[in-house]
Amino acid sequence: MGTVGDTATGDRCRRVLFFPLPYQGHINPMFQLAGLLHARGFAVTVFHAQFNAPDASRHPAYDFVPVPGDSMPGDSPDVVQATLEHILAVNRACEAPFRERLAALLEQQRAREDVACLVADAHLLTLLDVARGLRVPTLALRTGSAACFRWFTAFPMLCDKGYLPAQESQLDTPVIELPPYGVGDLPSTSSAAAHAQLREVISRAVAAVTTSSGLILNTFDALETDELASLRRDLAVPVFDVGPLHKLSPAASSSLLRQDRGCLDWLDAQAPASVLYVSFGSLASMSASDLKETAWSIANSGHPFLWVLRPGLVRGAPPSQQQPPLPDGFHATTHGRGMVVRWAPQEEVLAHPAVGGFWTHCGWNSTLESVCAGVPMLCRPCFGDQKGNARYVYHAWRIGLTLDGELERGKVEAAISALMGAGETGAELRRRALEFKSSAAESIGEAGSSCLNVDKLVNHIQSLQL
Ligand code: UDP
Repeated sequence: MGTVGDTATGDRCRRVLFFPLPYQGHINPMFQLAGLLHARGFAVTVFHAQFNAPDASRHPAYDFVPVPGDSMPGDSPDVVQATLEHILAVNRACEAPFRERLAALLEQQRAREDVACLVADAHLLTLLDVARGLRVPTLALRTGSAACFRWFTAFPMLCDKGYLPAQESQLDTPVIELPPYGVGDLPSTSSAAAHAQLREVISRAVAAVTTSSGLILNTFDALETDELASLRRDLAVPVFDVGPLHKLSPAASSSLLRQDRGCLDWLDAQAPASVLYVSFGSLASMSASDLKETAWSIANSGHPFLWVLRPGLVRGAPPSQQQPPLPDGFHATTHGRGMVVRWAPQEEVLAHPAVGGFWTHCGWNSTLESVCAGVPMLCRPCFGDQKGNARYVYHAWRIGLTLDGELERGKVEAAISALMGAGETGAELRRRALEFKSSAAESIGEAGSSCLNVDKLVNHIQSLQL
């Protein structure tokens, strides 16, 4: 494990440029990667959009370059479509100002000598192209699983073979070319226009990877052995699986919302493995009636709980609403048994010994954080890669249960009991979850797969020349 650029001996340290996609689930792994490379001696410059801009004061050792001009996400009720449109809009709007700012940075002779590469989110193809146009080598970070990127590369085949766009009658059909996925695990779109947009965003993400000098993935070999082997076989660029990044990186928090740390004190007072942690990430939303069923299933389960009720969780709520209102009687029924917060320090919550289960939307970061903490999951995926992640959790890794169909309190209470209870199901889930926790720890230990891949990534970046 060497470090780059020893300034004490007069060598220049090299600079890595970063550009995250401005969403929480993409910002966190990008900052974790920046923290990791910074700890290995690289200087860091973060270019960023104005929407969801990071808090520079939390990272005093980094340079920040705001790139103006990006738009806000649209207000389409279809969150998939709104997100796809926004990804394309950010690319378009940031292109010219990014070119200008990057060229200015490169013009300073010292900076030109120092810059090693740009690491950008794979959804920022336009910006990766801009960097290449200015002769800056690029690496693409995909913030989802290896399995997810595998189906990205297979998207044209999935369309040609008629799996996509998914038909209601075929949701249970297995995708034999991509086990363990079924058609229902692939992202569904509400219209032909949304499908075309999905196809465009995915083909651009694949192009971003194949035209770069390498793909960086937040996963580890023991978790996705076959998927990583398949990507290595199919892609002509090197693949660096360096996850779990949140465990490897000393990065300061890049949370966009203020995390309520008081919940950690509350957890300290709870019995080991007794608490159900409930969070649906930064984007997933639910109907008002699903919120009601969620609330009563948590209340009726009888288990202690920590619930993240973030602003915007309920569809159709006024933007000014700080927190969705809970049903009458909820607080009285659960008094002394639970805590509701707007946003939690999730990595620390999941690593807390009091947490025994995670009811999650299965965003990739949440899934990986739960895997690393050895916490079994109750999966309620909403959109995008979440259904595929859930499939791996309950079917391939068998460290969780899934909640399909209508959200109905009786059904959910039974699932919570199975997950948290002393019965055979819960015991087996916990046993397997602890095995994965160990393999995650091994992967980042000395000579672990991810640890070695970080070394390879550092050497690779050192070898890149403008
Ligand atoms: N997160 C957090 N506090 C919360 C809920 C989530 O800090 O109360 C973090 C979580 O640790 C994860 C990220 O937000 O790193 C969410 O990413 P994920 O991929 O799980 O879901 P997304 O928000 O992209 O749907």
